[in-house]
Amino acid sequence: MGRYARVVVKLSGEAFAGAAGAGTDPACLAHLADEVASVHDRGVQTTVVVGGGNLFRGRLAGSWGIDRAEADDIGMLGTVMNALMLRGALTARGEPDVRVMTAVPMQSFAEPFIRLRADRHLRRGRIVLLAGGTGQPYVTADYAAVQRSLELSVDALLVAKRGVDGVYDSDPKTHPDAKRYARLTYREALERRVKVMDTAAFVLAEEQGLVMHVFDAARPGAMAAICEGRDIGTVVTAD
Ligand code: UDP
Repeated sequence: MGRYARVVVKLSGEAFAGAAGAGTDPACLAHLADEVASVHDRGVQTTVVVGGGNLFRGRLAGSWGIDRAEADDIGMLGTVMNALMLRGALTARGEPDVRVMTAVPMQSFAEPFIRLRADRHLRRGRIVLLAGGTGQPYVTADYAAVQRSLELSVDALLVAKRGVDGVYDSDPKTHPDAKRYARLTYREALERRVKVMDTAAFVLAEEQGLVMHVFDAARPGAMAAICEGRDIGTVVTAD
C-alpha cells in the first residue's frame, strides 16, 4: 500500500481534448482511462470528478448571447458526456464496476450522487465517476472536486492539468524562465496570485486543510506515482 488509500482525481475537460483544446480525442480518453485504472488497480479507492470545459463553459454565456444559468446547465451536461465516455473506456479496459453518479438526477444512465452510497461503492472497490459538478450554476467542476474530496474524506485531491506540469510563479507558456514550485501553501498561492483553480474552490480547500497535488494529465504514470508517495508536480497544502 502506498501513501494514499483514497483519492479524488479532478480531470479537467481539456485533458479529454488533446492538442485541439476542445472536443474529445479518443487517444486522450484512452490515456486517461489507463491512468485512472492504474490507480484503482493498486488498491486505491478512486473517485474522479470530471470537468467539461472541452465541450462548453458557462462563462461563454455573454458571447453566445444566452443566460448564464442556462449556459451553466449546458456546461454541467458536458461533464456528464465526458463521464460516460470515461466509463465506456474504463469498462473496455476490463474494469468491472464503474459507477457514474451525477449531481443533477439523470436516472436512466447514472445514479444520483448520494454521499454515503458513493462511500459504499468505494469501500467495495468500485471506481466512482462524479459528473454534473455541484449541480449548481456559477461554480465550476473545481469547486465540486474540492467539495466531494471533503465529503468523501479523501487523503488527497489530484488535480490533472493539461499542458502544464504543476504550479509556476508565472505562466510557463509565455515566460520561458518561469519557476515551478515543488511545494506551496494555499496562502502563498493566493498572495502571489498564481492561478491554480477557481478561487472559491481554493479557499474552501485551504479552510479545510485539503492536500492537493497539481500535475500534468498527459504524463504517463503520474497519478499512480503520486499515490505511492512520489511528489510529482506541485503539492499545495494549508501549512
Ligand atoms: N458547471 C456548473 N456548476 C458546477 C460545475 C460546472 O455550472 O458545479 C458548468 C460551468 O458552466 C462550467 C462547465 O460546467 O464552465 C464545465 O465545467 P468546468 O469548466 O468546471 O470544467 P473544467 O474546467 O474542469 O473542464
